[in-house]
Amino acid sequence: MLVLGIESSCDETGVALYDSTHGLLAHQLHTQIAMHAEYGGVVPELASRDHIRRLTPLTHASLQQAGKTYRDIDAIAYTQGPGLGGALLAGASFANALAFALNKPIIPVHHLEGHMLSPLLSEEKPAFPFVALLVSGGHTQFMAVKGIGNYTLLGESIDDAAGEAFDKTAKLLGLPYPGGAKLAELARLGQPSNLHFPRPMLHSHDLNMSFSGLKTAVLTAVNKIRTETGCDAELPEQIRNNICREFQDAVVDVLTSKAKQALKQTGYQQLVVAGGVGANWQLRQSLNNLPEVRTFFPPMAYCTDNGAMIAFAGAMHLASAQPAAGFNVKPRWPLSQIVQ
Ligand code: ATP
Ligand code: MG
Ligand code: FE
Repeated sequence: MLVLGIESSCDETGVALYDSTHGLLAHQLHTQIAMHAEYGGVVPELASRDHIRRLTPLTHASLQQAGKTYRDIDAIAYTQGPGLGGALLAGASFANALAFALNKPIIPVHHLEGHMLSPLLSEEKPAFPFVALLVSGGHTQFMAVKGIGNYTLLGESIDDAAGEAFDKTAKLLGLPYPGGAKLAELARLGQPSNLHFPRPMLHSHDLNMSFSGLKTAVLTAVNKIRTETGCDAELPEQIRNNICREFQDAVVDVLTSKAKQALKQTGYQQLVVAGGVGANWQLRQSLNNLPEVRTFFPPMAYCTDNGAMIAFAGAMHLASAQPAAGFNVKPRWPLSQIVQ
């Protein structure tokens, strides 16, 4: 069965074709990062309009890449939520119109389920059950995954997501938008220093986390350094790199400690890491070194938003999916409330 996947929840338009026998046949992506950069964040109205512009050309490119035509498509999966309402509607309208025209089933997919199942696109796949750490721009959650559609929330960030903390911290350090990945690169150049940022909720005895105070701790440290050195503008490079490293150390320490706790609590021996922060080199290193645990990451290209993960999740649901009557989007949608 050939499934077309459409992702448009935020600032990436992703289209892909997944074949249940032959695997991923095509994957096309357009990122709007450059368009939103001058505003320092995603402008929802611009995002929706750009998705509308990109969806048809990306679909054509996917079909061409796979050597298929519209008639070969067996089902269409799209991101129903969570995400930006207008951006979701662009993808939902496109997917539903195409499904209607081709008279094929439509499969609404939860964006985070897409992220969470993306490690199954790797050659080396986890088997159920596993603990999933979803760590992206909007979410930081631990889930117990017993099978497709069987997800239990174990704990989550009570304020900022880890990716959001990376981006906000990068912004206050003067790094260009979106700063998360850039901050991670500068952290490689950081050296041990007398800086120390808090590890929020490290000892909270549950699987909840908090990252907003960490960003404030960085701000306080930056202000202090500026006062001491009398530099109003840019921080000296090495000091900035040290701050990046210490910030990243703090995030990775918390995520690693909570991951250990989640594995202990469930008794599972496999950890799946998904979402944009899963691209982080230090987090990968740290979670790969957990004793007696196998850790799985999606291929780098499928860490951030993409159509491949939506096509794949759609293919997994195809057998049980009911053809949708009409369509809607769910900008707010907890993953634990998926109903099969
Ligand atoms: P959600 O999936 O929760 O709706 P999203 O789709 O915006 O949010 P993703 O696309 O999965 O999130 O990931 C983007 C986030 O990942 C951004 O916050 C970005 O800073 C972060 N990110 C990307 N690369 C890295 C990296 N190497 N280190 C740390 N953070 C990173
Ligand atoms: Mg994005
Ligand atoms: Fe995402």
